[in-house]
Amino acid sequence: MNASYGRNIHYLRISLTDRCNFRCVYCMPADMVFTPQPYLLADDELLRLVRIATMVGFDRVRLTGGEPTVRPNLVRLVAGIAQVPGIREIAMTTNAMRLEKLAEPLAEAGLKRVNISIDTLDAERFYKMTRFGKIEQVWRGILAAERAGLNPIKLNAVVVRGYNENDIVDLARLTLEHDWDMRFIEVMPLGSIADFQMDSVVPAAEMKLRIESALGALTPVDWDGHNPARPYRLRGGRGTIGFISSVTEPFCAGCDRMRLSADGRLRLCLLRDNEIDLLTPLRAGASDEDLRELMARGIIEKPWGHGLAQHVIAGSRVMSQIGG
Ligand code: SAM
Ligand code: SF4
Repeated sequence: MNASYGRNIHYLRISLTDRCNFRCVYCMPADMVFTPQPYLLADDELLRLVRIATMVGFDRVRLTGGEPTVRPNLVRLVAGIAQVPGIREIAMTTNAMRLEKLAEPLAEAGLKRVNISIDTLDAERFYKMTRFGKIEQVWRGILAAERAGLNPIKLNAVVVRGYNENDIVDLARLTLEHDWDMRFIEVMPLGSIADFQMDSVVPAAEMKLRIESALGALTPVDWDGHNPARPYRLRGGRGTIGFISSVTEPFCAGCDRMRLSADGRLRLCLLRDNEIDLLTPLRAGASDEDLRELMARGIIEKPWGHGLAQHVIAGSRVMSQIGG
């Protein structure tokens, strides 16, 4: 048990790589340069940090990136994390381009569930938003995840003004036929593309209105208060619909997470630049106890919340470099 402003910080989001097979317009610049391999945590270093993280109270892990499925030896790494005593659940956030083949081995290795990014069902607009993505391949990845028993399946759509605000209704409609949780995300500003992102925000209230106008009322369903998306259901819907409104309605009071970047920095708040370097001491021979103390310090120093309302924009990294 640990605490930061009364919050129990126990959920670690681990970026396995800053690389990606997409270049989504809301995530990174088109000419993104990736970090050379030697500056990233190696498998054994990562496993050691996960083990130490359990000593300060982390018990849930989400693998993200960049695109986690482009990391070499992913299945073996997941199996290694699953064997760390104290880790109760491993989840992954992915663009699903490589999931058709990987879903089953990942599930066998210990992965429990996936969040899959899908911003539109229209092939052309999907390609334009992701600058590389093929919607049919992503769709096959979603179905493979379902077949592999990765459950529940959550779908994420970042809604970007001028790109996909008209696609929200079709995405919401998926929950009528499928037992999937569809979540719509407000664009968050980060790093070198913050100005574009701030200009592209579609408020969650507008998204909800668009869905209700087309498909009828959204009824709230039970919510644990920690999941950032309060869930709703369409009449007769099998899955739920949620809105992640970090910009217009922050949920910092319920924040239970921290992030470990692929280059070994503990990021205390997604939308602030405060970080603790773990890679340098780790490679300089720090003991488990030294690293545990650094992580414990991170929990104590975790800021109360982000500062978007005060126009504080985290500038040091874009989303793919942090592990969104
Ligand atoms: N590549 C994987 C994917 O896209 O699912 C995992 C990494 S991605 C950075 C994690 C999540 O962050 C995705 O759901 C993505 O849509 C979201 N994301 C990226 N940039 C964002 C931004 N500026 N604001 C809000 N969400 C963003
Ligand atoms: Fe890649 Fe995910 Fe960022 Fe898109 S959102 S560029 S898929 S890391």
